[in-house]
Amino acid sequence: MPVCELCGNDYDKAFEVKMAGKAHIFDSFECAIHALAPECAHCGCKIIGHGVEAAGRFFCCARCADENGVKGARDRI
Ligand SMILES: [Zn+2]
Ligand SMILES: [Zn+2]
Repeated sequence: MPVCELCGNDYDKAFEVKMAGKAHIFDSFECAIHALAPECAHCGCKIIGHGVEAAGRFFCCARCADENGVKGARDRI
């Protein structure tokens, strides 16, 4: 049975997420997000949507990017 790599839960509906060529096993999206989602460089929240990438940093929204001096950031929707 696959085991979640974050919390160690042994769950028959665990799933695999491939990121940058590396496979990860999780039992829930919550664990996957906790382990893999980038954090906003401004407010620190987990970026679950598209987010904004600027100058090698990730932001959860255009507002956070803007407050970090990123000009012209727009939410990708
Ligand atoms: Zn888990
Ligand atoms: Zn943010």
